[in-house]
Amino acid sequence: MDIKNNWDIHVIPGAEITHVPVEIIDKLANRARKLGAEIIVVHGETLVEPVVSGTNLSAVSCPEVDILAHPGLITIEEAELAKENDIALEISSRKGHCLSNGHVAKVALEVGADLVLDTDTHAPEDLITCETAYKIALGAGLPRKHIKKALRDNPQKILKKNGLI
Ligand SMILES: [Zn+2]
Repeated sequence: MDIKNNWDIHVIPGAEITHVPVEIIDKLANRARKLGAEIIVVHGETLVEPVVSGTNLSAVSCPEVDILAHPGLITIEEAELAKENDIALEISSRKGHCLSNGHVAKVALEVGADLVLDTDTHAPEDLITCETAYKIALGAGLPRKHIKKALRDNPQKILKKNGLI
């Protein structure tokens, strides 16, 4: 992309699969990848903008998915599958989606699943600083040693997995 020649940012195309039948999440993730999405996210079963029940399970069963976003009251079994399939679970800075951050962090730590902290940015004012991200991670109950993983190591792992760094 030409943007990086003008602005000091690196744009990565991605897709967030939202409000789809659970039976076709795998198919849609593969299709998005073929169409050029470098990062595949599935909109999880957040408390405030719920998708059909079973979305979390279907998403963490699909190795093509990179991140299960705002997974709400994710179960231990779903988090174990996420770990097995190398899918990160999201701590969200977005109002509403963040209501279950503490639960998501607790379940992920319990099974050893990767966490990432995302903004779910819809508008420029949704973007946050590293300092705010750190505070949100603390607020989710993440121990300090896990915050660095969620803010830096795990995102880099996703970029490496997809050949982006
Ligand atoms: Zn979403």
